[in-house]
Amino acid sequence: MRIGVLGAGQLGRMLALAGYPLAKSFVFYDMSGNPSAGIGDVVVDPLNNRIEDFLSQVDRVTYEFEHLPVAIAETIAQHKPVHPSPRSLQICQNREAEKTLFGQLGIPTPQWQIADSAESLQQAAEALGCPVVAKSNTEGYDGKGQAVLRSPEEAAAAWEAIGHPRLMVEKFVDFSREISMIAARGQDGHIVIYPMAENVHHDGILRYSVAPAPGLSEATRVEAEKHMRALLNELDYVGVLTLELFATRDGLVANEMAPRVHNSGHWTIEGAHTSQFENHIRAVSGLPLGNAEARGVSCMINIIGQHGDTKRILELPYTHLHLYDKAERPGRKLGHVNILADNYEELVWRVRNCAEFLPGSPEFSCSLTEG
Ligand code: AMP
Repeated sequence: MRIGVLGAGQLGRMLALAGYPLAKSFVFYDMSGNPSAGIGDVVVDPLNNRIEDFLSQVDRVTYEFEHLPVAIAETIAQHKPVHPSPRSLQICQNREAEKTLFGQLGIPTPQWQIADSAESLQQAAEALGCPVVAKSNTEGYDGKGQAVLRSPEEAAAAWEAIGHPRLMVEKFVDFSREISMIAARGQDGHIVIYPMAENVHHDGILRYSVAPAPGLSEATRVEAEKHMRALLNELDYVGVLTLELFATRDGLVANEMAPRVHNSGHWTIEGAHTSQFENHIRAVSGLPLGNAEARGVSCMINIIGQHGDTKRILELPYTHLHLYDKAERPGRKLGHVNILADNYEELVWRVRNCAEFLPGSPEFSCSLTEG
């Protein structure tokens, strides 16, 4: 079976690496003109006029990034099976549709309003109570196209700075940490859910993911899994879905979802019995899903901007290094290191040792290290 992947970055690369043992082959469709997967066949098509060529080479299609026109996914779906469905893609691209769906399914979110002018942004800030976060309703990711308003008077400047005709305005959540939940749903409707991860960001970029997220109560887990199942079933979803959440005093609050494998799930490559990549390929291929339980406790460290001392990292007996074969550039994701341990204490010690060899890596701090 030849699987077509829309997008050709490191997520696609890792999907292929997981798919080869299952005798899948891969054709990537790249619209950026700059594919980095470095594996499989690639159709480079910045002008979108080689889709037929791409489709003639594949049996089914999935994606590794969600910022592609829904119309392209819909056109493709007329010719080949596409998983997850274009509807899932459409909802994940639109914060208003996403939060509306969360609300319908009883999934808690920050309070929100839509603004379509500087005046309505100011009114939303007044109604919700500052601080609020204003985000472009579409096309935003990793904190881009966002502004925090400390008072409603900042509305005009924020509207100008974001420069988008429709904004999602959310009450600022005073969260203690960020959590993500990753799950896969197969074509038969079977669902597997990974232990949630605790995610540490710096300058809007994920740096560390610890899984299973320490200190989450059983009741919180059961509640979050109920929400995940509701989402997957409502969307008749096939593949891996990621839900990003804020941990607050009142429980978990949903931020957004991504219709794909996710950076906060890279720990699953060695840290779970079946990786998120393999389970995505299994789901898309109509195969039974694999065990999503953790093998121990894990931390993923992202390698950002500079590769650091690869040799020293490899010398550590507990590291699993994954490099994406990309050139160094500030802020660029070049690879990650997965570290497993038998307990959290040992994990923190190992992560700190390894991070020494990654220049520019912020000191490892998370709920485990804060007294
Ligand atoms: P997003 O693009 O929605 O994932 O937002 C990027 C980051 O901004 C999140 O990971 C949070 O750290 C922060 N953020 C987003 N929305 C809120 C919110 N309502 N309250 C507080 N922080 C937020």
